[in-house]
Amino acid sequence: MTPEQLDAADPLAPFRDRFALPEGVIYLDGNSLGARPKAAAGRIAQVVEREWGEGLITSWNAAGWIEAPRRIGDKIAQLVGAGNGEMIACDSTSVNIFKTLCAALSLTPERDTILSERGNFPTDIYMVQGIEALTGRRIRQQLVEPGEVEGAMGDHVAVVLLTHVHYKTGRMRDMALTTRLAHEAGASIVWDLSHSAGAVPVDLTSAGADFAVGCGYKYLNGGPGAPAFLFAAKRHQQKVMPALSGWFGHAEPFAFDDQYRPAPGVERFMVGTPPVLGMAALEVGVDLFLEADMAQVRSKSLSLSRLFIERMKPLCAAHGFQLASPELEAERGSQVSYRHPQGYAIMQALIARGVVGDFRAPDILRFGFTPLYTSHVEVAAAVDHMAQVMEGGEWDRPEYKVRAAVT
Ligand SMILES: *Cc1c(COP(=O)(O)O)cnc(C)c1O
Repeated sequence: MTPEQLDAADPLAPFRDRFALPEGVIYLDGNSLGARPKAAAGRIAQVVEREWGEGLITSWNAAGWIEAPRRIGDKIAQLVGAGNGEMIACDSTSVNIFKTLCAALSLTPERDTILSERGNFPTDIYMVQGIEALTGRRIRQQLVEPGEVEGAMGDHVAVVLLTHVHYKTGRMRDMALTTRLAHEAGASIVWDLSHSAGAVPVDLTSAGADFAVGCGYKYLNGGPGAPAFLFAAKRHQQKVMPALSGWFGHAEPFAFDDQYRPAPGVERFMVGTPPVLGMAALEVGVDLFLEADMAQVRSKSLSLSRLFIERMKPLCAAHGFQLASPELEAERGSQVSYRHPQGYAIMQALIARGVVGDFRAPDILRFGFTPLYTSHVEVAAAVDHMAQVMEGGEWDRPEYKVRAAVT
């Protein structure tokens, strides 16, 4: 089928109109910062003018601000196969990694290792280095090659920390299998779902996952710096004393007691006052997703990436792009990456043409496919732009080689 025919048969096509996207831009970076739902502007204005401006402090109760972390958590839970009361929207992914790792470590106090893979998203690795320092190196990080994680699950391993869909390659792990292997080895597992929530079907419950975290501003379209989410399986919640024991995680924050007593449920993983404006925008993005069928999202995501890979083949042969993502669709998330030694400059030339992807050092061009607002026609057009960038040597301009702070 042609891209036009694929779009005509696309059941998700009506969602496109729910997003504000600039004219002339083909946005293939929703895996890094999701596009803005049109409704976000009105909702933010309402929170600022009415709830904050007029309601003032009464809005904590009257406008439901106080319940937002749990309410939005329960909504995100539906997208990743978690139950009610197992998810909270709070803090950043980095902070939530710290909280879940500390919780998971406390389940097996006799073990001393957090196992992860080399080349994991940096914050995942860095947060563990902080835990190493904090514990006087009693807890240590073990980093192995991506294919060696399962084999390294020895009886020293307390926690396995893995990203479900890799941020560079888009490789997707088998969550159920890896979780089972971790459990058989006596370890617990923390899944980073930053590139999974809203991108691929996830079932934390059937996988038996222990903890999970993820971003609100990527596929969930929650806005720049949106609050993240944290999942803790019900069976663990009562067992773990939160490492960041803030007053919002207290059983009765407004009792103002000197003694910390964690909330009975997932609320114990909250720390401080939730960022209400960010929560409001996040909820708009999540609500949109609740209207979509995740099976349709997955099927369109694969259709978009299949078309992209197919059309890129001649360019790979002619210009030396190397597919860095799995060919096998079952192993591919919702992005496609290519390696190219001139990747940075090529991406800048594409962006100047209105095709927005991003670059990840040292040589990865990354293209995210967001089925709610990206069409097959756009994907085909993006490859046409790429061909022109390469054939005219357009990328080879000095201004495309100057590195910006954010790539
Ligand atoms: C984007 C991303 C993060 C981001 O963490 P922040 O605390 O929001 O900056 C963490 N982990 C992975 C795997 C990511 O892709």
